[in-house]
Amino acid sequence: MNYDFIVVGHGLAGSTLAYTLQKRGHQVLVIDEPKPNSASNVAAGLVNPVAGKRFAKSWMADTFIPFADKFYDELEERFKQPLFFHKPIYKIFSTIEEQNTWMAKSAEDSWSEYIKATYTQSTGEGAVQDPYGGIVISKGGYLLVSDTLRLLAQELLQTGNMLPERFEMEALQLTEQGVSYKGITANHLVFCEGYQLVQNPYFKWLPLQPTKGEVLEVENEIFNASCIYNKAVYVVPVVEGKYKIGATYNWREADEETTPSGKAELSEKFERITAAPYKVTGHWAGIRPAVRDRHPLLGVHPAHKQLSVFNGLGSKGVVMAPYLAERLATALEGEGELLPDVHISRYLSLYYEYIKQQSQQL
Ligand SMILES: Cc1cc2nc3c(=O)[nH]c(=O)nc-3n(C[C@H](O)[C@H](O)[C@H](O)COP(=O)(O)OP(=O)(O)OC[C@H]3O[C@@H](n4cnc5c(N)ncnc54)[C@H](O)[C@@H]3O)c2cc1C
Repeated sequence: MNYDFIVVGHGLAGSTLAYTLQKRGHQVLVIDEPKPNSASNVAAGLVNPVAGKRFAKSWMADTFIPFADKFYDELEERFKQPLFFHKPIYKIFSTIEEQNTWMAKSAEDSWSEYIKATYTQSTGEGAVQDPYGGIVISKGGYLLVSDTLRLLAQELLQTGNMLPERFEMEALQLTEQGVSYKGITANHLVFCEGYQLVQNPYFKWLPLQPTKGEVLEVENEIFNASCIYNKAVYVVPVVEGKYKIGATYNWREADEETTPSGKAELSEKFERITAAPYKVTGHWAGIRPAVRDRHPLLGVHPAHKQLSVFNGLGSKGVVMAPYLAERLATALEGEGELLPDVHISRYLSLYYEYIKQQSQQL
């Protein structure tokens, strides 16, 4: 069978792309080695319109958020179950200085639609420690990522459009028409391998920075699940009485093991949000595919026009993937351009350097 596209990897990048390409009428085969601790499977699924410590609206929030909302609504409709939960985020101020900065920010026009309420003193909610108050941010929420991926994978398996196995690079042949892989042919192949891109002989020159993250799940019956809390960590209500606490960032140890220090860091930060007793019920580690300039990596290979990449979603895969999948699909059809900010051509000099090194080694 000849496919229009082979997609390697079924995390947030591969799944949103495969779904989008199929919806646009293409024949798609997904090859994915199931990985319970992939970045997508361990993610708490948070969508936060605010970019952490920088007190700024997160990059392209006005574009990504409405697109993601629509995309996940459509999946909920398709699978007849709730997957994305709209929840306000209560950003608790740590200091009076932080309170002042945020109060000034919240007066700016561009922010108004994202700010639901501001508090300069504690809200008085018993279990929450917020002596300096906080700000309630709207348009946030969380996706049940692994449930979403499981439902999409089930559908692909049922229609014979998924191979749940490792893609073996040695078996890939580039042909004039596209690619050939173990007797399967396709016009184009897109690599969506998450952090494992660093081993990909065609795209390893891209400046991916695998960044380990750990998350905890805790049981705490006292909290009010009507919002997500954020102060050094986020606290996401996943199911009745259970919360995901995340996440750590570690550039130095890109392994996938949970650690006592990760658990201690998350617990200590969680305890700054609440003094209520809790029990740790889960602990996971995964590796984010982050990029130096914090922007994703999309585009066709500079020399092999039958190969593309969709990667670099960093810590914001849930909100960015649907829009970027649509833009990539359109570009692959020759119908549109990718944004320069996400196009891999911004790193072309690294590709030429890599090629030079390769030829010197021969
Ligand atoms: C602890 C933690 C918490 C996070 N929290 C959030 C959050 O709250 N909100 C948010 O938006 N983002 C969050 N993220 C980031 C988010 O998870 C990533 O942005 C996103 O999951 C990246 O998706 P991906 O598809 O690129 O990679 P992955 O999820 O890693 O998926 C890659 C897939 O490709 C497969 N694969 C790779 N190589 C091969 C091969 N050779 N053959 C076959 N299959 C292959 C893998 O098995 C895997 O299934 C978090 C990440 C971590 C680690």
